[in-house]
Amino acid sequence: MLYINGAWRDSATKLNVLNPATGKVLTAVATGGKAETQEAIASAKKAFATWGKTTGNERSNYLSKAVQLMKERSKELAETITLENGKPLPDATREVAGAIGFFEWYAEEAKRIYGDTLPASDPDKQLMVIREPVGVCAAITPWNFPLSMITRKIAPALAAGCTVVLKPADVTPLSAIKVFECFHEAGLPAGVANLVIGPAEEIGSEMTRNPDVRKITFTGSTRVGKKLMRDSADTVKKISMELGGHAPYVVFEDAEIDAAVNGVLVSKFINAGQTCISTNRIYVAESIANEFSEKLAAKVSALVVGNGLEEGVNVGPLINQAALEKVQHQVEDAVKQGGKVLTGGKIFTLEKESGYFFEPTVIHYANDRMQITTEETFGPVAPIYTFQTEEEVVERANHAEYGLAAYCYTKDLGRGLRMMRALEFGIVGINDPAPAVVQAPFGGVKESGTGKEGGKYGLEEYLEEKYVSIYMK
Ligand code: NAP
Repeated sequence: MLYINGAWRDSATKLNVLNPATGKVLTAVATGGKAETQEAIASAKKAFATWGKTTGNERSNYLSKAVQLMKERSKELAETITLENGKPLPDATREVAGAIGFFEWYAEEAKRIYGDTLPASDPDKQLMVIREPVGVCAAITPWNFPLSMITRKIAPALAAGCTVVLKPADVTPLSAIKVFECFHEAGLPAGVANLVIGPAEEIGSEMTRNPDVRKITFTGSTRVGKKLMRDSADTVKKISMELGGHAPYVVFEDAEIDAAVNGVLVSKFINAGQTCISTNRIYVAESIANEFSEKLAAKVSALVVGNGLEEGVNVGPLINQAALEKVQHQVEDAVKQGGKVLTGGKIFTLEKESGYFFEPTVIHYANDRMQITTEETFGPVAPIYTFQTEEEVVERANHAEYGLAAYCYTKDLGRGLRMMRALEFGIVGINDPAPAVVQAPFGGVKESGTGKEGGKYGLEEYLEEKYVSIYMK
């Protein structure tokens, strides 16, 4: 279903949505293309004329109503995520809570958009900065967090007074439809939030080239992000890009080993490793590497793989066949380059299901020649490298292209602080494998993106400063 100008719309063209745990079709949804995107942008432009002038309190009320509805439907939302994305239900339930958290946070922030008064250089002048919504925003989201990636963009956009056109990932449109049902029932005025599902290139081209769109906010791969940046240049749009990552996870000899092992279970195996801030390279001090890898392999081999709707499952399927093949290829390459598989390493076949499962895998003796060292894995594979000195590991941890998230385990406060400074990443977790929270700025440096989402920082992305100088005589 498409949602344009406050109304649901069917269409003759349909897209099949698959369950990655079974490979079977869940349902088919209506799609739109260039014409529908143009219509959605036009309705967002019209709506902006009034929504952009509402008070923060009014917008806050709408956001709060949406929160209420999402809370009432959180079970249904979580099941939808599991069905179309595959992640285990408890993880989907956490995603729903996080997704609602963004709406709760920005329902409050909508009331707190302040300006500044500047000291004037001329006594007869009054200088002010007022902050205004950017205008129509186009949002493009990925499948790995099919709900929270949407609310992390739409909540601050609406709070700031912007209107939105969303294109969700084609493999996970159902969560988007469910959350738009909440917006509709919350009484959001027509055109304030619009949903277009359909061919990425066609919709994306219209979003980037249409001069009425003043901002593009994107979460997805670096490759597509670069294209959107290039295409947005002609109309000089404001942009936020949350792109790929390749997180190092550094474990020093003074670290609490069990905590570091458990941290990998969170940072690498949640969402079957399909998280942009997932650990991709585990650097362990040589003196503790064997103990660490044995402990990690034991824990990883106990993880239960299966359909995310079943109780007790820790690791669900990958999103599709292509993802499965990419992970298998990286593992084969790592083995060819001298890596030793301590556990896992193969496509996993479940008797009852024919989905895209891969065994949770630990590879010891990883090295810098392997593809897995530079390419994002997006799968449940943990390669372990060894290092000798802090200087050496800092140099290897700082990835040439990516700079999204990095982790470090140490009990030495000074070392933790040195690592905090030395790691060239937008997010650093020191003895913390799960740093992402609603109030913090989430985003990368280098080719991991530009702009932040979350907290007061996320709101800034949807506001423009207008400087006003008033001569009083
Ligand atoms: P992707 O292929 O870049 O797709 C992301 C979104 O972009 C989808 O909605 C996709 O639509 C759309 N898209 C694809 N080609 C497009 C085009 N030419 N023009 C406009 N839109 C286009 O990425 P993905 O495989 O879904 O997601 C995984 C990537 O996202 C990873 O690299 C991951 O690190 C990154 N990610 C980053 C963050 C972060 O916050 N930094 C968070 C989550 C994920 P279709 O689905 O219809 O093709």
